[in-house]
Amino acid sequence: MRFDIMTLFPDMVLGVLGESIIGRAQKAGYITVEAHNIRDYSEDKHRRVDDAPYGGGRGMLMAAPPVYACHRAVCAAGDAAMGDGIKRRTIYLSPKGRVLTQDYARTLIQYDQLILLCGHYEGIDQRVLDEIVDEEISIGDYVLTGGELPACVLVDCVARMIDGVLPEAVCYESESIACGLLEYPQYTRPAVWHDVEVPAVLQSGHHAQIDAWRLEQARSITERLRPDLLAAYDEAHPPVIKKKKRS
Ligand code: SAM
Repeated sequence: MRFDIMTLFPDMVLGVLGESIIGRAQKAGYITVEAHNIRDYSEDKHRRVDDAPYGGGRGMLMAAPPVYACHRAVCAAGDAAMGDGIKRRTIYLSPKGRVLTQDYARTLIQYDQLILLCGHYEGIDQRVLDEIVDEEISIGDYVLTGGELPACVLVDCVARMIDGVLPEAVCYESESIACGLLEYPQYTRPAVWHDVEVPAVLQSGHHAQIDAWRLEQARSITERLRPDLLAAYDEAHPPVIKKKKRS
């Protein structure tokens, strides 16, 4: 899968996404991440990409022409790398968008190319958004200075569900939210630290008891911190009632 990030600050996203698991996934060829500087597509002699909004008001807006020209080039790069007819989606990271969830991120894996448009200043001229954007996605109900961090969040969240990026699907399926609950507490060596011992059941080697303990812990943490999740989980996992044997 290919992620193309349209931004005024390419080093910002390449720096974040070039590290750790997502960086290794790129080196191993499981994903491609490219950043495109929208400023390179400005026809202004000072490479300006912003202008004052019509109607007045504070701040500046990113103008339509460089964003559009950059998008054309990014689509062409996708076609050249992956062939015509690829499944492509252009997403504008925006506080006005649908809020990103694990379930929604999973639906994005179907695309060959995700183009992520990062706004800055007061945002982007609506005309180019209407022309090139398939949907707007927010990473939460707060406002940031730019779309770069949201784009990195989206790439990380989607990429770790792509085959090969993590060792096994269970790595992300069993985690908080993805499994429907919040994760149970985890411990590693030493067995005793600051006078606190790792729960005996986890040291027992008894896998059925460990699984039962983890489920019970996950349920109680979820009940305390996210009762909404627990209610949905219980609805999706009704308790199995064993049939009585006929006498
Ligand atoms: N004036 C815009 C508004 O009121 O909706 C906010 C612009 S914000 C200062 C600049 C850019 O940051 C946006 O164009 C968007 O790309 C990005 N951004 C800010 N908050 C975001 C969020 N919660 N999720 C996704 N992108 C966000």
